[in-house]
Amino acid sequence: MEDYYKILGIPENASEEEIKKKFRELAKKHHPDFGGDPEKFKKILEAYRVLSNKKLRQEYDQRRKMKDFNFDFGGFNFNDIFQGSSINDLIGDLFEDFFSSDIRHHFEARDIILDLEITLEELIKGTTKNISYKRKVICSKCDGTGSENKNFIRCNICNGTGKVKSRSSFFTGFIFETSKICQNCKGKGKIPEKICQNCQGRGYVAKNELITINLPPNTNLKEIIRIANFGDQDPYLKKSGDLLLRIIIKPHPKFNIKGNDLIAEIELTPIDLVLGKKLIVDYFGEKIEINIPQGFNDNFIKINNKGINGGSLILKIKLKPIKKLSKRAKDLLEELKKEIYE
Ligand SMILES: [Zn+2]
Ligand SMILES: [Zn+2]
Repeated sequence: MEDYYKILGIPENASEEEIKKKFRELAKKHHPDFGGDPEKFKKILEAYRVLSNKKLRQEYDQRRKMKDFNFDFGGFNFNDIFQGSSINDLIGDLFEDFFSSDIRHHFEARDIILDLEITLEELIKGTTKNISYKRKVICSKCDGTGSENKNFIRCNICNGTGKVKSRSSFFTGFIFETSKICQNCKGKGKIPEKICQNCQGRGYVAKNELITINLPPNTNLKEIIRIANFGDQDPYLKKSGDLLLRIIIKPHPKFNIKGNDLIAEIELTPIDLVLGKKLIVDYFGEKIEINIPQGFNDNFIKINNKGINGGSLILKIKLKPIKKLSKRAKDLLEELKKEIYE
């Protein structure tokens, strides 16, 4: 006897609803028609058969408590399970789930996500960008119907019902019927009288779009720019998805981005720090004057409002390496030390 609770991954006190829910989840995942392992699927079915039946579950629970693992629950008979039982309905539902999600997948008015690469300078100063991309738009020849003359005839595959009976093939000698959404008419029950040549009956065509985006200075990096109705169009729902632009900043040779701050390094000598120094920093073409005061002691300089979106520009001070320390230099330093400190 196997641990049916373990197989379904549910607690011993699971409700009927929980059992059903978990079964649907697992059956979807392990159904052999969709690439699952038949042995595993069989176990799931058997566990569900027993646990979904009040009487069988009670009996099973008792045996389980007594650790009576030799008990046989009447063997595993697929025909019993599927003839007129609720499992058949459940499995049938699963198929519909599969195929309807397939159809949604084809027809949804989807958002398009694009990366928009800009330079740091463009981010800070603002920029205008032309973006070209492809999207699906409703075919203007057939108004998205897929039919050249907009007339439809009944689908003869499903006789207008939109569904076809289908046989599951997962177990030799065992067959059960399910209804699938008709692939010929995609569940609509009707097909174009004459397929639209412009869109091959799909209802949409690929279109090259060119749009111009105006990025104001200091656009918030974390924001995704949403341009409404510029995504894929759905000929069935007559709706458009959106275009989403994700801003990507190209690496800058001088400035690194940290949060809203810009970080750069400046090289100074200890003497600059002792005596103080006037520095000119090139900030995207703008010259920023920085006064290092006499006896400066910090290892960075912060300039407010020169980052992104109110952030700061932080200049990290790096000491300039000494190229050579000659005898004369050493003597001078010793003398200087005495002069300053003694
Ligand atoms: Zn059909
Ligand atoms: Zn068309």
